[in-house]
Amino acid sequence: MKIGLLALQGDYEKHSQILSRLDLQTVLVRYPQQLNDVAGLVIPGGESTTMSKLINANGFCQPLVSFAQQFPILGTCAGLIMMGRLQQPDPRIETLDLIDVTVTRNAYGRQLASFVDDLTVEVADHQQTVPGCFIRAPKINTIGSNVEVLARYNNDPVAVRQDRHIGLTFHPELNNVTLFHQLAFRGG
Ligand code: GLN
Repeated sequence: MKIGLLALQGDYEKHSQILSRLDLQTVLVRYPQQLNDVAGLVIPGGESTTMSKLINANGFCQPLVSFAQQFPILGTCAGLIMMGRLQQPDPRIETLDLIDVTVTRNAYGRQLASFVDDLTVEVADHQQTVPGCFIRAPKINTIGSNVEVLARYNNDPVAVRQDRHIGLTFHPELNNVTLFHQLAFRGG
């Protein structure tokens, strides 16, 4: 099975290492037609203003929404921002509205306030502790009734799932955490 990495901007390379540990092949997706060749997609972290601009400029909006109706998407950090909605609309960012959450960007402060801490994740019938790396991370402010919270940090949801999609405010790929890619693309 091939998984796409939306490779317009951001730290997509690290995700291919995680996916190969799960025996999943990766394709760098730079054009919408390439979505026809993959059975899942990672929207990586990066800078959501730039990512939104490139998603629009490359004609990805509608193709991504259609893709999401059939296949899983894992969004990390800026990727989650693109998958949710902004609490305070920003004309520079057009989100895809795939997970029913509202988010605030850069909610923990500046780059210097980035941190790593343990997260307890609810997985099916057990809990698993993994490191969570938060880099100029967003916060999830509100969640819709169809959204399942997989992990919280200081009571804020930081890992959420809706239907086949997973959104994370942190970067599992920077700590070799395979759990979320496994949940999204290997079904558990
Ligand atoms: N602060 C970035 C943004 O709002 C997200 C940071 C990240 O993806 N690590 O786009």
